[in-house]
Amino acid sequence: MKNTERIDRLKRERALPADQWVRLLGTFTEEDRTYAAEKARAITTARFGNKIYIRGIVEFTNYCKNNCLYCGIRRENTGAVRYRLTKEEILLCCHAGYQAGFRTFVLQGGEDPYFTDGRITDIVSAIRAEFPDCAITLSVGEKSREAYKCFFDAGANRYLLRHETADEAHYGRLHPPEQSWRNRMRCLRDLKDIGYQTGCGMMVGSPFQTVECLAEDMVFMSRFRPEMIGIGPFIPHHGTPFRDCPAGSTETTLLLLSLCRIMLPDVLLPATTALGTVCGDGRQLGVLAGANVVMPNLSPVGVRKNYTLYDNKAITGEDAAESLNILRSHMREIGYEVVVSRGDYKSREEHR
Ligand code: SF4
Repeated sequence: MKNTERIDRLKRERALPADQWVRLLGTFTEEDRTYAAEKARAITTARFGNKIYIRGIVEFTNYCKNNCLYCGIRRENTGAVRYRLTKEEILLCCHAGYQAGFRTFVLQGGEDPYFTDGRITDIVSAIRAEFPDCAITLSVGEKSREAYKCFFDAGANRYLLRHETADEAHYGRLHPPEQSWRNRMRCLRDLKDIGYQTGCGMMVGSPFQTVECLAEDMVFMSRFRPEMIGIGPFIPHHGTPFRDCPAGSTETTLLLLSLCRIMLPDVLLPATTALGTVCGDGRQLGVLAGANVVMPNLSPVGVRKNYTLYDNKAITGEDAAESLNILRSHMREIGYEVVVSRGDYKSREEHR
């Protein structure tokens, strides 16, 4: 079977067996990638028109108790300059974002013990009270089911928690022994069960990743059916044990974005900052591969350089409104329009 036939089968059946994923991901050519991108873009256009949803990210703490081997803010990286934002500073970021046209705020941070479940709940409640028409997305790592429920009841709507790899043994090589793949999977199940629009995802080209690992990721996502998927290339950080590992491939990342769109047509799919880091027009390429979301930074300009999970992160010094204007013009160049909208997940039936 040719890879284009595998892509057609994925479009028809919304899934592929693991061995077919391995063949497709292990042997794809530039023509296959273009073929997948065209199919993916057609699906995105049919679902979302030429609309691009934006989410404003507030990186509110770069303290983390964990030690993921790939991450620049892991606890053992003593070179990281640590910071925390106050609740007031977080709300100021949201206000600036709201003025600029953002209707989704993403609170992203390391697993910082200072931000107890109670403090996070309090921050979510404050944002919910001030911005009743906005979506609140949390990206604050592994918590108990009870904590997830409290955040949800306080007004959080969405949660991003990359699964990183669906292969348990591979997970064990990317994380220290105290972090477990099983708990990560438990978290994802709890989030969906509670009612969050749930996002998972992985790095492409992470150390020890094989084509079989990526195949497992795709099979996992076809079953889990996340509402959002975050996929970006692995980029090494100089303060981590993986400092000398090569970065992941832009081409494979773009192909996987297209295949995710074909597999899960309604999914909210960002063109990630990491893609924009390895490749200058990565966000445009991501959209042309089937992405429909971009997530600009709303964090105070002064702290952005300290929230570096990987090296050479594309950091801009613009405020919310300026960065949005630049993004708008980049998207217009390729025929897309940034919209002022919450951009919630809708199933195919709801799109009709
Ligand atoms: S990836 Fe997340 S949990 Fe792991 S060290 Fe970095 S911030 Fe902490």
